Amino acid sequence: MTESFYADVLGATQITPNLRRVHLGGGTIADWESTGKADEFVHVHIPGDNPAEGWEDDHDIARHYTIRSYDAVAGTIDLDVVTHGHGLGSSWAKNCQPGDRVAISDASGFYGPPGGSTKRLLLADATGLPAVARILEEASADEEFDVIVELLDLADKIELPSKATVRAVWRVSGNGRSPSALETCMSRSEAPGEDVYVWIACESAESRRARKYLRNNWGRHHTWYRIVGYWYANLDEIMATYNSLTDEQRAAYEAIWDDERSDEANWEELEPFLAAHGL
Ligand SMILES: Cc1cc2nc3c(=O)[nH]c(=O)nc-3n(C[C@H](O)[C@H](O)[C@H](O)COP(=O)(O)OP(=O)(O)OC[C@H]3O[C@@H](n4cnc5c(N)ncnc54)[C@H](O)[C@@H]3O)c2cc1C
Repeated sequence: MTESFYADVLGATQITPNLRRVHLGGGTIADWESTGKADEFVHVHIPGDNPAEGWEDDHDIARHYTIRSYDAVAGTIDLDVVTHGHGLGSSWAKNCQPGDRVAISDASGFYGPPGGSTKRLLLADATGLPAVARILEEASADEEFDVIVELLDLADKIELPSKATVRAVWRVSGNGRSPSALETCMSRSEAPGEDVYVWIACESAESRRARKYLRNNWGRHHTWYRIVGYWYANLDEIMATYNSLTDEQRAAYEAIWDDERSDEANWEELEPFLAAHGL
């Protein structure tokens, strides 16, 4: 992701007790292009004391959010932000005002079921719900989805309109307040058939537990799943450990990720490295 686009906050709407929709438009947003991937996301440079000047991959000033919807003709984008308590992004969603200027990056996405497949399993916490909602909204009538979403509160449940067949289960767990139940849900379910594409988005440690469970118990080729860590429950700890790596260890870490292969193929190699270094 390299480009910056500018947008103004047009307003914000409370969708559920812990989910706030921020409406963006104006600026250079009409030049922003969708990737067409239903879980596409951008890096949002959130204005502090000064207006945003351009996105940077820097946790001091920017956060990732899913493009919940966009209207190319009107030049508008909606982001659904979990207002989990404290944090730059969470506070911004609660307090942003019409006219506030943000910068967003170009988009990137992960969701990519193999062509010809129609069955899906989606697991997410509240941060993955905007992507789940958009995936379902854009799905076709011949698709079939099993969906498990864990929330802070059942009042955060939303409608999930879709042309597809959708079986949704809602749970109150995880989301930084109690242990996540996603891995337990996986272990209590029958292994999905080989023709089921699995997509999971949740807290990072939970995403790695889910990946491990899937690889060890559901064994499938990495083209049939995509698991993404959306946030860290222990970011400070992880950053401290990462910053304590030697230059050689950092170089070894960076050398593992190869853009020529799929992300999940990279994760197969990355996981043992991270575990060995306490990451
Ligand atoms: C590809 C991608 C797409 C994403 N899409 C969305 C989206 O559409 N909507 C959305 O709300 N989030 C989304 N996220 C997650 C979001 O970027 C993180 O939750 C981010 O950390 C929020 O920033 P913050 O400033 O509110 O909190 P931070 O400043 O990052 O963290 C402050 C504290 O809050 C905790 N925290 C952070 N997020 C949460 C949470 N969700 N629940 C409980 N505790 C939390 C941290 O552990 C930390 O202790 C996405 C992330 C990725 C990688």
